Amino acid sequence: MDPFDVEGGAINVRFLEANPTRAHFIIQNFNLETANSLRRYMLAEIPTLAIDVVEVLDNTSVLADEFICHRLGLIPLNSRGVDDLLYSRDCDCEGYCDNCSVVLTLNAKCTGNEIMKVYARDLVITSNPPNDAVGQPVITDREEQGSCIVKLRKGQAIHMRCIAKKGIAKEHAKWAPSAAIGFEYDPANKLHHLDLWYEGDDPKKEPVDQERINLDGGAPAEDEPFDYDAVPTRFFFDVETVGGLDPDQIVGRGIKGLQEKLAQVIHELTGTGGPEGDFGGAQSPTMNGGYNDAGYTTPGYGGGASSWGGNGGIVGGTTPYGQPTPGYGQDKPGW
Ligand SMILES: [Zn+2]
Repeated sequence: MDPFDVEGGAINVRFLEANPTRAHFIIQNFNLETANSLRRYMLAEIPTLAIDVVEVLDNTSVLADEFICHRLGLIPLNSRGVDDLLYSRDCDCEGYCDNCSVVLTLNAKCTGNEIMKVYARDLVITSNPPNDAVGQPVITDREEQGSCIVKLRKGQAIHMRCIAKKGIAKEHAKWAPSAAIGFEYDPANKLHHLDLWYEGDDPKKEPVDQERINLDGGAPAEDEPFDYDAVPTRFFFDVETVGGLDPDQIVGRGIKGLQEKLAQVIHELTGTGGPEGDFGGAQSPTMNGGYNDAGYTTPGYGGGASSWGGNGGIVGGTTPYGQPTPGYGQDKPGW
């Protein structure tokens, strides 16, 4: 039996290190496609909170409004309990309200001769968020200041109303829950999926990650024949949070979200295997109507009324590929 796989073939997760900022773990007996899907889901589709709209009431600092607004958007906000908020696009309000947004106010004026630094800690929640955690600026440094937003000299002031909304990193990277996700399989490069980088003339002189190679069953023997049928089965993940969610929350939500997506694929293909209705997962920003229940029809391509199908007599769910494109070769002014 493989000493590094005590479960004997079943999918299992083994944590190597876990602390408030990082989770380093191995998934074993998994396949590359699904492992990579999990990585991509954790990077891009876990909802968090970030400042999305800024009302600039006063800004006499040396930085332009849009420059500061961009910096504000990138400040990590506590996203624990973000599920208590709606996506703003799904909310009945116009603009923002307590059900879909958290309002933070930044109001600072420098009156002394010293240069004054305005930090993330100076963002004050001025709405009624659904719980105590969500929307608070993430502050992890020893001085308890958070990131520096702008510096002010005597007489300069800044006053902004920041509306933080729920979103996913697929729409904008400011909603990313993780700073980085390390992903590796095959640390000894037994599968030859790539050529290892090396300096000089001998790749064997380069340093190797001996710990991971040991965890992956050891380095190949000198005369070991290449196995054309070998596939990766062990995947090393290293999830680092920006502070809005705990690393284990990111992993847990990633697995749950991926399961929901796979369940939906099975459900749409077979009509079974998944729960009915809304899956509660993240939505792509362009799909305001939620997921389409009608099978494979993509909005805009299917149906006779779309701009692709309706104009040239192409009916139903047919794409224009391989058929006369509407307009071309026909007598239509304006094309
Ligand atoms: Zn609202």
